[in-house]
Parts: sequence; structure tokens; C-alpha cells
Amino acid sequence: MKTFEELGVASPILKAIQEMGYELPMPVQEEVIPFLLGEDNDVIALAQTGTGKTAAFGLPILQKIEVSVYQPQALILCPTRELCLQIAGDLNDYSKYINGLKVLPVYGGSSIESQIKTLKRGVHVVVATPGRLLDLLTRKTVNLSLVKNVILDEADEMLNMGFSDSINAILAEVPSSRNMLLFSATMPQGIANITRKYMNNPREIVIGRKNEGNENIKHIYYMIRAQDKYLALKRIADYYPNIYGIIFCRTRKETQEIADKLIQDGYNADSLHGELSQAQRDYVMQKFRLRNLQLLVATDVAARGLDVDDLTHIINYGLPDDVESYTHRSGRTGRAGKTGISISICHIKEKGKMREIERIINKKFEKGEMPGGKAICEKQIVNLIDQIEKVKVDEEEIASLMPSIFRKLEWLDKEDIIKRMVSLEFNRMIDYYKDADEIEVVDEHPGKDRNTAFGKKESRRSRDKEEGFIRYFINFGKSDGLYPNQLIDLVNKCVPGKVRIGKIDLLDNFSFFEVEEAAAKRVVDRMNGFEIDGRRISVEPAQGKKGEGKGDSKGEKKKAASFYDRFDKRTRNNDKPWRRTSRPSSRKNRE
Ligand code: AMP
Repeated sequence: MKTFEELGVASPILKAIQEMGYELPMPVQEEVIPFLLGEDNDVIALAQTGTGKTAAFGLPILQKIEVSVYQPQALILCPTRELCLQIAGDLNDYSKYINGLKVLPVYGGSSIESQIKTLKRGVHVVVATPGRLLDLLTRKTVNLSLVKNVILDEADEMLNMGFSDSINAILAEVPSSRNMLLFSATMPQGIANITRKYMNNPREIVIGRKNEGNENIKHIYYMIRAQDKYLALKRIADYYPNIYGIIFCRTRKETQEIADKLIQDGYNADSLHGELSQAQRDYVMQKFRLRNLQLLVATDVAARGLDVDDLTHIINYGLPDDVESYTHRSGRTGRAGKTGISISICHIKEKGKMREIERIINKKFEKGEMPGGKAICEKQIVNLIDQIEKVKVDEEEIASLMPSIFRKLEWLDKEDIIKRMVSLEFNRMIDYYKDADEIEVVDEHPGKDRNTAFGKKESRRSRDKEEGFIRYFINFGKSDGLYPNQLIDLVNKCVPGKVRIGKIDLLDNFSFFEVEEAAAKRVVDRMNGFEIDGRRISVEPAQGKKGEGKGDSKGEKKKAASFYDRFDKRTRNNDKPWRRTSRPSSRKNRE
């Protein structure tokens, strides 16, 4: 690997980047810097965000500026104001030791007059969004005739945003004998059109494979029912207590709704979308950059140009329509050599889209297991303990307070204090998750498990690893129209809170079903109080060890039959269809 010096980077820039902590060039820099330091070199670079592309084009173009000539000599076009400011900021950092070099960001939404004034005073590098630059060109307030280097950054996104015509109009104003460098995370057809039209025998540099996602990113998906989407999001956020990420939504409305809900539910979240004023957007982005905000809920467009390196996760609240957007979204994590996680909370209908993304990024999505309440609480507690261990104690500052604190807590021993501290922090969460419904992960292969007696339910509830179920007898069977779905429905309606149901054995006149031990008492207490068409439900533990034998095992049959017979004589009415006339559902949705 070469050093920056060996690539030809000059000393004032070297000094600046060394101060920024750049020790060795990143791959894209190694390829692009020497090439752009030459003449008449056009480059198409397929590189994801976070690969170091700003320095890759920034260092050589700054180096080639003649500071004594007060005219734009380099032009960088990018899709958003935020990216524009980001690039201009980076270029200013790189050129810190080049006296008199001026970089001007030019973007919509801010005073055009002050941009015109600065242009009149003379600048060397213009970083612009296409719309505003075209406006300036139309007013003849910017002269691009001395431009030697043109960079199109995030070209695919500029096309997505409809800047194609503006780009064409701008490129018509720059001399044909310039270097042109086009960066794109993906290679849609529109890019090929631009390169054919404006680039001269461009060298193609691919950092990673074409259209391939960043290697450092793990892609996880949770396929769930639409109504559980928000609950799943909360669980994921709870499961990663140190999450620092962006939640991508499809529309501005959804973005705002999800952010509002999260804020209401006590999360450190905020929204970023096009309906906010520029000042609001700046404020939110600054909060996020400073890590004063943990979760940013954003639309694709608004999050462009938000350059934050250390994101732990990005969450797709539903998959985007096109693969490019997915690549851009997920490319916001796993940057600068770090690892990242891209989570997709999606619906079964999005499965095709997911496969398409997998194919193009050439990476498989891993199926995520929805964390249960217990796992979440454990994770949060471990995190708290970890923080306690690592917290920096400012002995001096707290010294004066300690005697009175020690006095107050004197009567408690260490164990008590720890328990109280944990409870203080977690009682709410433990309460919340104690009876919270499990979120069902949707069965992607319905029917696959049907050959086992209760395979379908087993797989839907993904309870393969679960143990501790108790087997119950119920005095209704197939001849009453009782089938697995009705039985599950009945249990859910009669018994508050989520009840996990295991095996179901249906016989003609009575049935058996397994219930998780934790809910067993609730099930017996509640179900026995119900009636169906005037007929009382009777549920009681089946004989024999739990999970042993089938519903037609002799012991069970004998007991069940006698029970059923007793019951039958009094109340049975086979003519009535399976219909609930019992009291309304007492099941509460706790989440
Ligand atoms: P970019 O793809 O230009 O947004 O860069 C991603 C991140 O990598 C930014 O925070 C850069 O400051 C950082 N970076 C770029 N080049 C280097 C380098 N050679 N060494 C260390 N960090 C770098």
C-alpha cells in the first residue's frame, strides 16, 4: 500500500490530512488521487458512501488550484444542501494550509445574494446543488469557463431527484477539456447515458463489486404482520440499548408519525423530512451528529448528505422501492472500515423485493429472531451494569456530596443498593414486557410444516426451543366445529395477555391442547368461566405427564370421556354451530 506522499499529495495538504488522522490512503483514494492529478482523465468510480471518496477527489483537485487566479477551477455537483456543506467543509479542512484558497458551497434555500457577492469576490472551488447553480448561471453570476475538474458526487441520487436536465445544462457551460469524475453507489441506466455523453474514455474504478453493498454490513430482516411493525421497531430499539441509527420511512407522513410515537414512548428520537423548515432540519441533524439524538427517523431524501460515520444500525421501516435506495440506506452504516447492521422490518408481501435486493447486493439477508421481553430486559440491565463499571467518577466534584449520601444510605447494604438501582432504572421496562404479547414472526413457508400434527402453529410461533408446556383437556371437539384456529382464538379471547399454545389434538367430542406453564393457571381460571351457546367450557389438566402421548391415548381418553359424558348429559347441544356468545374479550393489547 502506498502512502499519500507516494501518491503525489503535496505537503500543505499532507499536513492537514495528517492532523485529521488520515494515516494511509483508503482504496478509492489510492486509485483516484494519482489519476486525477494527471490531465484529461475521466473517471467513473463505483464506490459506496463511507469509502473515503471526498478525499479521493478533494485532495487532487485542491492541489491543482492556482490560488492566484480568482475564478472557479473546480466544480462539484451533489444532490443535497447537506452533502454540499459537508463536502465544502471537508475541502476547507484539507486546504487549511493552502493560503487564500476559497471554497464556496452553493445551494438552494439560502440567500442567493450573499452567494453572488462571494462569487464576485472570487472563489476557486464551487460545491453546488444543480438547481441553485443553474439559477446562478442563468443570472450570469458564475463563470465556469476555467473549470479544470468536474465532480458529480452521488450521481445516481441526483438523477433520482430529477436533476438530469440541470446537470446537462451545467455541463454545457464547462470546457470540454476538463477532468470529469463521477461517483455513484450504483450504476443505473441514467448514469451510463451521462458518461456516454460527457466523458471521454473514462476509466472505471470499482471499489467493491458493481452494485454491491458494503462488505462490513450485516443485513437482517424481520418478517412480521403489518400491525406489529411499530412494536417490532420498539423491540429492536430496546434490544440495542446503545443503538445510534437512522430509521428510514417511505413517506414524510409516516416519518413524522413514527418519530412522534417514539418520542411519546420515551425514546430519544426525532424526525427529518422535507416538510420541516431548513432551520428545523439543521437543528435535528446537528443534534444527531453530536449524538444528542439516538434515533433519527428520516426519509431517504432528507437523510442524504447527513454524514455520520459511527452509525450502529440503519432500520428500514419497510423496504424501499428500488435497490439503489436500499444500498444508499444501508451504506450509511458500516463506514470507514467499521461494521454495521441494516435491519429491515418487512411484510411478507415485500419478500420478492428482498430477494431482488439480495441478488443485486450479492448478499443474503439473515432472518432475525424477534427479541422477547426477557432477552430485552437482560440486555438493558447488562448494558446498565456495563455503564456503571465504566463511568468516569469525578472524585473531586462529588467529594462534598458523598458524606450526606453515605449517611442516607447507611442502612442499606451493597446488595440492596444494587437491587434498588436496577429497579429504579428497569421497573418500567420489566412491567411493560412482563405481559407483553410476543410478536409473531410471519411464516414465510406456510404449509411446509403441516405434516406434523401442529406444525403450522409451531413454526409460526417459532417455539422450537420452548419447553415447559402443560397439556389440557377441553370439553369441545371437532363435532362442535372446533378446529385449531378456533381453539387458539378462543384461548386468546378468554385469557388476558398472550398465551403460547403448543400441540393441539382434536378429537370428535373433546380435545387436548398444550399451554405454556407460565400461563397455565390463567388459562384454567379464565376459560372455565366462559360459555359457548349456553354451554360452559370446561378445561382441566389432562392426565399423564405433559406432552406425553396423543389425544387418543387410553388414559386421557378415559378421563376425558367420562368428563365429557358428564358434561354432555347436561348441556350439550350439537345442533348449534360453533359460535361465541360468551362475554366479550378481556384480552388487552398491552403494547
Ligand atoms: P467519505 O466517503 O468521503 O464520506 O469518507 C468517510 C469517512 O472516512 C470520513 O469521515 C473521512 O473523514 C474518513 N476518511 C477518509 N479518508 C480517510 C483516510 N485515508 N484515513 C482515515 N479516515 C479517512
